[in-house]
Amino acid sequence: MEKFDVIIVGAGLAGLGAAYTLAVQGLEILVLERGDYPGAKNVTGGRIYVNPVRDLFPDLWAEAPLERFIVQEGAVLMAKERSVAIAYAGEELRQEPHQSYSLLRARFDRWFAEQVEARGAMILPKIQVENVIKEQGKIIGVWAGGDELHADVVIACDGVLSLLGEQAGLHPPESSHNYALGIKEVISLEGEKINDRFQLQGNEGAARLFIGEVTQGMFGGGFLYTNKESLSLGIVIGIEDMMARGGKPAAPDFLEAFKARPEIACLIRGGTTVEYAAHLIPEGGFKALHPLHGAGILVAGDAAGFALNMGFTVRGMEYALASGYYAAKTVLKAREAGSFAAAALSEYGRLLQESFVLKDFQNFQATPSFVNNPRFFSHYPELTGNLLRDIYRVPAGPKERLYPTLRKYLGLGEMWSMFKNLREVTKI
Ligand SMILES: Cc1cc2nc3c(=O)[nH]c(=O)nc-3n(C[C@H](O)[C@H](O)[C@H](O)COP(=O)(O)OP(=O)(O)OC[C@H]3O[C@@H](n4cnc5c(N)ncnc54)[C@H](O)[C@@H]3O)c2cc1C
Repeated sequence: MEKFDVIIVGAGLAGLGAAYTLAVQGLEILVLERGDYPGAKNVTGGRIYVNPVRDLFPDLWAEAPLERFIVQEGAVLMAKERSVAIAYAGEELRQEPHQSYSLLRARFDRWFAEQVEARGAMILPKIQVENVIKEQGKIIGVWAGGDELHADVVIACDGVLSLLGEQAGLHPPESSHNYALGIKEVISLEGEKINDRFQLQGNEGAARLFIGEVTQGMFGGGFLYTNKESLSLGIVIGIEDMMARGGKPAAPDFLEAFKARPEIACLIRGGTTVEYAAHLIPEGGFKALHPLHGAGILVAGDAAGFALNMGFTVRGMEYALASGYYAAKTVLKAREAGSFAAAALSEYGRLLQESFVLKDFQNFQATPSFVNNPRFFSHYPELTGNLLRDIYRVPAGPKERLYPTLRKYLGLGEMWSMFKNLREVTKI
């Protein structure tokens, strides 16, 4: 039976963030990862906002294999036969240090794992943790590959649907309500073509989010990010909405329909799909967060529910990195105090509370119910598209005056419904 100072389950950003922070302190850290290598099983859209975590990992960013810095933001309302796009480009997005980057997890996590190993932690891939070991109500280790491995503390970074947290008795089995399914392709395309198609220069990048027909009226949306030599294209659909429709059409069909849209087809033309992945995303926000600690155990990243869809941004990676960092800081403090009891590990919640992590989740706790409004996924894209169609249309005969055109779509009933929807924004 082996004993470590800390066992970290999962070599995603939360697990690697924790290991990176702890390893430099000379502790014996074991990271167990079921994938063939760190990054092999990790899915993201993928863009990371560096500002919140820059100072937590100051040595990381200069050499990190990030893809493109994002200088163009786009939001597209997709109706059945038309779409309305809002684009934002600002000089501040071009200035260093850049706010956000596209990234490919297979590349980034692998490199990050090398940095963690260089600091002295041991990462064992291809090892699935089967269960936690409990003694007198305290987690004292894990079962992995038939071996009993002990540690002062276990950090559960095993991602969305964390079995470890459930086995430790921290939370009941998950409900489908708080999750969405993401399906994503990486489409390889020459960098020069990407620059031409998206009007970018050098290593500039673009990010676009889509809402509406992409999910055929269900909760969710689409995303498109430019990488150096590829595009990350995908969709996200609420599990409950999908189940309510009996899973028909099948989720992959939505992605195919999205790719066939003229707005997308011209951007990916000539590209080759080099990666295809499906993964769940926590969508419940603050109210769906899991307990963050127990005796001998801390929970970080998606395992705790730390992903936040604000409609205009989708974020999980910084929360994973930061919660891993604060879990590590908690372990160091608990070691000093000589206790890994639940009371000592409750420091983790306090650190997160003082950081951007829980502040963001609290501030944006009304967002999940706001964005889960069915009108956003069908009614508004159609209404906006149809209104603009009529405004831009020049018929053979005389053109209708603008005001009657507007009134056709924005009658009293519609304005009242819009007002009620917009009023919800005041809670965010
Ligand atoms: C389609 C999609 C798009 C997204 N887009 C964005 C985006 O653009 N920006 C953003 O910031 N976030 C995005 N997110 C969310 C973000 O990817 C996650 O919040 C983030 O990856 C969470 O990191 P993590 O380390 O907690 O979990 P993961 O990266 O999932 O890592 C968990 C690790 O644990 C391992 N593991 C699980 N169980 C075991 C076990 N029993 N034993 C051993 N190992 C185990 C897994 O193999 C995995 O490597 C997106 C997510 C999806 C699915």
